[in-house]
Amino acid sequence: MRLVDTHSHIHDPEFGRGPADADAAVARAQAAGVTLIVTLGVDRADSEAAVALAGRHPGAVLAAVGVHPHAAKDAGDDDLDALEALARDPRVALIGEIGLDFYRNLSPRDDQMRVMRRQLDTARRVAKPVAVHAREAHDEVLPLLAAWSREMGGRLPGGRPLGVMHYFSAGADHARRYIELGFVISVHTSVTHPKATQLAAVVRDTPLEHLVLETDSPYGAPQRYRGTRNEPAYVAEAAGRVAEIKGISIEEVAETTTRNAERLLGAGAMHESAVLQTARHARD
Ligand SMILES: [Zn+2]
Repeated sequence: MRLVDTHSHIHDPEFGRGPADADAAVARAQAAGVTLIVTLGVDRADSEAAVALAGRHPGAVLAAVGVHPHAAKDAGDDDLDALEALARDPRVALIGEIGLDFYRNLSPRDDQMRVMRRQLDTARRVAKPVAVHAREAHDEVLPLLAAWSREMGGRLPGGRPLGVMHYFSAGADHARRYIELGFVISVHTSVTHPKATQLAAVVRDTPLEHLVLETDSPYGAPQRYRGTRNEPAYVAEAAGRVAEIKGISIEEVAETTTRNAERLLGAGAMHESAVLQTARHARD
């Protein structure tokens, strides 16, 4: 069984006691069948740290670079220019974490809008998908992404999705609209919580072809590990719950969501060529 954790923050010093701890988490994830982990930056320095961790785990960890809505007020043009340059690095799979958060409002709304718009421009110029954080802001995020989707022709080159709606927290109607715009929906490990009825309904009503999985570790541990630090190895808990809700096997959930994630991240071709090479080696 192969799994992908499409959203984590394992390079974050808050994840643990430093880089060695993140490396240990990658090893535990691999032992649990997680073949690929994305670690996302939330500002310029943090994005550089994400790329550095990806550099230590080629093929196993990919980075995302971006400014989180909480950090928008501190992001100047120089930071956004530097992030755009970093975004071209082959270890960078996504532009993120970007978005709008009108729940906590840790940055003024104008700053959040300015920084999100600018990063959508970056994503267009570097032709990479976005990882979107939207909290109590779907009335603003939907039209922004609709306009961007039109600009992008609804898909990235090669027919890849335009991005992922991370830690999806709206209803099934919203999910359908984002999917129509060219996005995939990310199911967080909190889907295992007994109170996650809205997310369970989204999982039930959304075809598996449009779903990917995530932990957002170190935050939001699944029910079985509640009260402890979340980590990429636990993405299997989300897969298990999705299987239960849809009445299908966990293997089918793992296989399909992994393929969806690889297409999103542009990692499928990478994986296929690795498999081909292995096959060729075996033959030679
Ligand atoms: Zn996050």
